[in-house]
Amino acid sequence: MIDKRKFYINGAWVAPTAANDLPVIDPSTEQEVAVVSLGSQADTDAAVAAAKAAFPAWSALSLEERLAPLERLIAAYKAGKDKMSAAMTMEMGAPKQLSEGSQFGAGLWHMKEAVRAARAFAFEHESGDDLIYHEPIGVCALITPWNWPMNQVTLKVMPALAVGCTVVLKPSEIAPLSSVVFAEMIDEAGFPPGVFNMVNGDGVGVGTQLSVHPDVDMVSFTGSTRAGSLITKNAADSIKRVSLELGGKGANLVFADADEKAVVRGVRHCFQNTGQSCNAPTRMLVEASIYDQAVETAIATAEQTSVGPASEDGRHIGPVVSEVHWNKIQGLIQDGIDEGARLVAGGTGKPDGMNAGYFVKPTIFADVTNDMKIAREEIFGPVLAMIPFKDEAEAVAIANDTAYGLTNYVQTQDPERAKRLSRQLRSGMVQVNGTGLGERTPFGGYKQSGNGREGSTWGLEEFMEVKAVSGV
Ligand code: NAD
Repeated sequence: MIDKRKFYINGAWVAPTAANDLPVIDPSTEQEVAVVSLGSQADTDAAVAAAKAAFPAWSALSLEERLAPLERLIAAYKAGKDKMSAAMTMEMGAPKQLSEGSQFGAGLWHMKEAVRAARAFAFEHESGDDLIYHEPIGVCALITPWNWPMNQVTLKVMPALAVGCTVVLKPSEIAPLSSVVFAEMIDEAGFPPGVFNMVNGDGVGVGTQLSVHPDVDMVSFTGSTRAGSLITKNAADSIKRVSLELGGKGANLVFADADEKAVVRGVRHCFQNTGQSCNAPTRMLVEASIYDQAVETAIATAEQTSVGPASEDGRHIGPVVSEVHWNKIQGLIQDGIDEGARLVAGGTGKPDGMNAGYFVKPTIFADVTNDMKIAREEIFGPVLAMIPFKDEAEAVAIANDTAYGLTNYVQTQDPERAKRLSRQLRSGMVQVNGTGLGERTPFGGYKQSGNGREGSTWGLEEFMEVKAVSGV
């Protein structure tokens, strides 16, 4: 059993002030594979105090002095690829190919871009006769989810430290191992004590303690809309900044003139990471004239999607993260059946012959209406809802009829239509014809998908105050 009970506070690995063990379960096997600790108020206070004490000196360093340890961290991250990928495979069930590929790679991408963007950023500039300074906000609590562990951690830690903030990271208690590996890399890179701290814990414990803490200046949160709302309320009394990256229910608008791979690509994208992505295109809206064919293609794609343990090589989807989450997905699949959607692939229960592990059948519902629960709620599993539309106006209306607004997708070979729709869709991101967003592009949502923008220059600005100075 891997023992990772200690926290990283003030540049050292320290035991929790009170024992409170939490097992880490491998979702592919349902076996306990590691143990971490849930922190208490005293642990949270120690981490925040260390970050507060470290802030004056760290923020006073030159940019290059701060970027030097960050560049050593990038080197440690690259060198530790195997360790990092293995931790993600074990804690959240990302198949090897995914954890060594996109899961690890997303982290590296954001780390490099944060350094590049910081070097290019004008931290001081004129505005009329006055001067503008962009200054670090202070002590930041970084609260992250389990689904893309290193993507989220690097999107927060790198820009916060680059601009001169000090941080307390609280990773998801469900997938804490990769963040422990990350903290080990921080230790190896050699930062001044207290600049980076990590305390494990759950939402009601360390998460809430950080949100209300008078010495925390900002909470940067990625996770569910439910928790984002609670954090905002808890942070209100101390008027701290709260930056939120929340859930999604992305629509994928497939027009009759879409390229021939559009439907297959959309289904695969929905199932990627076993459907556990905030920006997954989980509602496929299809123009009526190609709808029946699209359903057939989606069925075939689901049937070709293999499911297997994360430790296995090859291209397949792994389990979902936990038993609680598996049960939630099963309930939502049943809701879809009960509400009258047409189940055309998959369904409730585990795939044949897979008894241990939180595996879900790749599932497709056709003839979904946008008022059904499976069209409104984030399922966060390999479940696609297909909805027909008659024209562009109806497609936009359905796409925008959601509480969320993270990413929408458009499949058409008409560039004018693509441009028009990219304006009309109410979301922070619109991706056309399967083109991914580049590293210099902000990530974030409208409406209940949050209020933050991460990545590149926008990610740096999140962690800064703006000071206006006249007469100098
Ligand atoms: P979650 O909200 O349950 O937990 C996320 C983190 O918040 C965890 O560290 C958890 O311990 C903590 N937390 C929970 N309740 C809290 C509270 N009351 N106060 C403080 N902290 C609290 O989410 P999850 O299940 O870990 O992750 C999945 C969710 O994350 C999905 O909704 C997904 O869409 C969202 N997500 C969004 C983005 C984005 O950038 N928009 C990216 C990835 C995931």
